[in-house]
Amino acid sequence: MVRDLASHPGICSINTATLGFQAPIGEVIEAVATAGFGMLAPWRRDTKDQNVALVAKHIRDAGLKLSGYCRSPYIPAATQQEYRANINANKQAIDDAAVLGAPVFVMVVGSLPPGSKDIEGARHQVREACAELLDHGRRQGVKIGLEPLHPVYAADRSCLTLLSEALDWCDRIEGASADPQIGTIIDCYHVWWDPNLARDVARAGQARRIFGFHVCDWLVPTIDVLNDRGMMGDGIIDIPSIRAALEGAGYTGPVEVEIFSAANWWKRPMSETLLTCKRQLSRAT
Ligand code: ZN
Repeated sequence: MVRDLASHPGICSINTATLGFQAPIGEVIEAVATAGFGMLAPWRRDTKDQNVALVAKHIRDAGLKLSGYCRSPYIPAATQQEYRANINANKQAIDDAAVLGAPVFVMVVGSLPPGSKDIEGARHQVREACAELLDHGRRQGVKIGLEPLHPVYAADRSCLTLLSEALDWCDRIEGASADPQIGTIIDCYHVWWDPNLARDVARAGQARRIFGFHVCDWLVPTIDVLNDRGMMGDGIIDIPSIRAALEGAGYTGPVEVEIFSAANWWKRPMSETLLTCKRQLSRAT
């Protein structure tokens, strides 16, 4: 039996990217709370030039919790100097995640630096960096969530594309743990096509390494693989089955709506998008 989302608003989260960054974070916090969601997941661009402690207070005062903080600056770099700078930018973001009260820092790891064709080199850099960021996160009380992306982004956004690979990396970086501090973020949009999804979700649950669950839908046709994601129920992903697999594997965390939709949802008023998200969380998720 999966959890009934309509009667559990506390675990329903809005990733602020869903609202298209059309308003300052203060207005977004109010809109999400007013719409009856219990959580949100802000981005670094929401808190840029803001007093992060004040944003954290606003979120708490609105009665909201964080499902995560998005997302990591990309890791791979052509020079050691840039690589160190990227790691330091990630540490700063983890510090902000701690102030905000985010339980997990979401990592979209990056891929080939300009001019490079060495994807294995990029993967090596990411694993090395994650080991260092894991230690930093431990000190700050923030877990590291690796989000594998759909392989269509392998050249530029993520050299990490498979859930199984993310779990392999967690094992290599941290080893087996009763209370893992590095795990995976499972996003329907990125993993729905994977023939080994059921096997790997079960493995992730067994290892207690499911740190987040993102939902949206894959439209057919998709006009733009980055910014033409669909509302749950509008595409071809069997989202309820994926959620059932996660919950069957022991996942009890938030269900986070994350829709990049430049031509559709980002053009609508936040209240309309939020209302639709709420309806489709109970009908199509
Ligand atoms: Zn995601």
